[in-house]
Amino acid sequence: MKVSVRTCPICEATECEVLCKQTFVLLEGHPLSDGYDVVCCDRCRFVYADTTISQSDCDLFYARFSKYEDNKTATGGGESSWDAERLQKTAASIVAKLPNKSVRILDIGCANGGLLKALKDLGYSRLCGLDPSPVCVENTQRFGIEAYPGSLLSIADRLGQFDCVILSHVLEHVQSVKSAVYGVAKLTRPGGMVYVEVPDASRYADFVTAPFQDFNTEHINHFSLQCLANLAQSCGWTVLSQGQKIIYSAINMPYPAIYSFWAHNPSSASDLQFVKDEELCGRIKMYIAQSQIEMEAIEIRLVHALQRTPEVIVWGTGQLAMKLLAETSLRLAKIVAFVDGNPINQGKRLQGIPILAPAQAKGMQFPIVVTSILHQDAIVDVIRNQLDLPNDMILLR
Ligand SMILES: [Zn+2]
Repeated sequence: MKVSVRTCPICEATECEVLCKQTFVLLEGHPLSDGYDVVCCDRCRFVYADTTISQSDCDLFYARFSKYEDNKTATGGGESSWDAERLQKTAASIVAKLPNKSVRILDIGCANGGLLKALKDLGYSRLCGLDPSPVCVENTQRFGIEAYPGSLLSIADRLGQFDCVILSHVLEHVQSVKSAVYGVAKLTRPGGMVYVEVPDASRYADFVTAPFQDFNTEHINHFSLQCLANLAQSCGWTVLSQGQKIIYSAINMPYPAIYSFWAHNPSSASDLQFVKDEELCGRIKMYIAQSQIEMEAIEIRLVHALQRTPEVIVWGTGQLAMKLLAETSLRLAKIVAFVDGNPINQGKRLQGIPILAPAQAKGMQFPIVVTSILHQDAIVDVIRNQLDLPNDMILLR
């Protein structure tokens, strides 16, 4: 047990149990935290990152480092068929509750506008998107949809009120969760509703793709359906319906999510009715144990490979790379270059070493450590088939 630095984002208690510690090596200029304890609130049993990062640092990060700008690898733009299908299904489930096609709908954290585009295709035209990244805003506007740069906590009053506000894969990223939910109330007209979708922390253990994938620099809140209901209740919202779903985070990579439809009911707001989530903490402990086993297997591979060739190229500077550089033998490797396919990272530096575009790796003779499991197959395809590079490859799986 300890007293957390960050109060519980749902019940505001500070007594908590430390479940594990996470550390990261960050890109230079990266404003998010390089480590935190994952804790479980003693009062309501919500699981969250005890990080001191401020909401303004979060906003800065999503404005400057948004991986979602890259249509090719990021979700939320609907560029790939698996992502487009996910967004079409979500749009269909939302409009099932909105038979009148003249309703106003706001998507907060709209990324490249994929969900709004799916709603437009279903005949809804009074749509609006909000995203911290100016590039994402432009991409959304390209669909002929109104969109503005901004975050949940810096929303201009000129937007007015909406019949439906969407928070899809937003609340797991937010430092001040309750302020965000209160902010949404101001944007929702009387009788309106909110659609919330977040990763399902109670099922992380069933979908371990990369170790500790969900304990990253961006995901700092780990919801279950019970925790989400506690949040709604304490902020004056009534849960209309909720459930579990499976989405895809990359091709052939299923990922657990939960969703909830809320109606505003300010008179019901109460902090006295938190229902303790008795299951989440145990499920997260299972996830941690499984992730540790995976991490040890990766460490064995890295130790073996680096004994032969300490000089390597590291391909991928995403969440897993940040963790491997902090916590495994990769920190001892002589890294001659980083490579990343996402233009947002190219030209930036990691540990003083430049991040190159894939084509710039041509002619470099060193073995390549592929530090993404999620995108491993796609990266191998670029290396072997698109760029025709002969380098040895060290794969994590
Ligand atoms: Zn709590």
